[in-house]
Amino acid sequence: MKTIVVAGGAGFIGSHLCERLLKEGNRVICVDNFVTGSKKNVKAFEKNENFNLLEHDITKPLEIDEDINQIYNMASPASPVDFPRIPIEILLTSSLGLKNLADLAVEKKARILQASTSEVYGNPLEHPQKETYFGNVNTIGPRSCYDEGKRFAEALLSAYARKKGLDKRIVRIFNTYGPRMRPNDGRVLPNFINQALEGKPLTVYGDGSQTRSFCFVSDEVDGLIKLMNSDYKFPCNIGNPNEMTIKELAEFVIKTTGSKSKLAFKSLPGDDPAKRKPDISIAKKELGGELKVSLEEGLKETIAFFEGK
Ligand code: NAD
Ligand code: UDP
Repeated sequence: MKTIVVAGGAGFIGSHLCERLLKEGNRVICVDNFVTGSKKNVKAFEKNENFNLLEHDITKPLEIDEDINQIYNMASPASPVDFPRIPIEILLTSSLGLKNLADLAVEKKARILQASTSEVYGNPLEHPQKETYFGNVNTIGPRSCYDEGKRFAEALLSAYARKKGLDKRIVRIFNTYGPRMRPNDGRVLPNFINQALEGKPLTVYGDGSQTRSFCFVSDEVDGLIKLMNSDYKFPCNIGNPNEMTIKELAEFVIKTTGSKSKLAFKSLPGDDPAKRKPDISIAKKELGGELKVSLEEGLKETIAFFEGK
């Protein structure tokens, strides 16, 4: 049995990660300040004696009075609607917050995995994106609090690894969806599914020709755990390379929900990446395994969650 800290464990991906780690027989200490997460996401595990929930903001130093084997840092608001709302908190969470976790990892001789993002590639000029691509980020744009925070986080862990021998893993997560996303999350799938279920127009930003590649949360969590337990120390993309335009996604959601909704085209937010698709050759080679959940299956499960089933 390992003792594992999951910072941001009451969020969307973090709560699925806690659930899986508990199922595999580990002790899990979930650390969260609930800025975008919710106690509801982890309520079902509170009965489990191997689960501890610590309400704490990681930008404050974290003391844990027991041995720790692994730390996953999932803490960070991740929806573009949060970027104008709490940009300073986002930057501090990925900088000061991660520094506090890295210090804890050094103290406990624990391995740490940082949830980085495809956003480190910005509006990519290389397609699909390989880990060797350095990115194209507007340092002062509306998404920069998130993108540059995550780029700093990768740099910080690399410096800790060089200077203090920190045992690090860095995962670049691509668009992930599934149950436990907030209904008002603002990201595309919660918006489209709720709009379709309510018979309202689906708000497609721009002309909908921008692309994304969507990964179901259980496949993402498989990859996170495999990377944490692998020997691979460099940034690793984890996502599903099944690329589609946002207009195609809207039409697919309408078909899958059986909704009569139409599309409503709205203005495109600033610095919205025109295309995104992970090159997952490294994940395939280093971690193995298969992506198990198709968009249709994953959407059905997510739709059922938003319907309250
Ligand atoms: P989420 O908002 O549901 O989860 C983030 C969690 O972190 C929340 O529970 C929030 O309350 C907590 N948190 C934020 N700041 C904190 C702080 N200072 N101290 C303690 N807890 C804090 O988002 P998510 O989609 O589950 O994303 C989880 C992680 O994965 C994030 O780091 C995100 O950047 C990364 N990621 C997600 C996606 C995606 O498509 N979902 C894509 C790329 C990267
Ligand atoms: N988007 C959209 N309608 C919405 C929400 C988002 O067309 O109601 C678009 C958004 O402009 C982007 C894509 O969907 O091109 C994915 O947006 P999301 O916020 O989910 O994540 P991103 O990949 O941009 O971080």
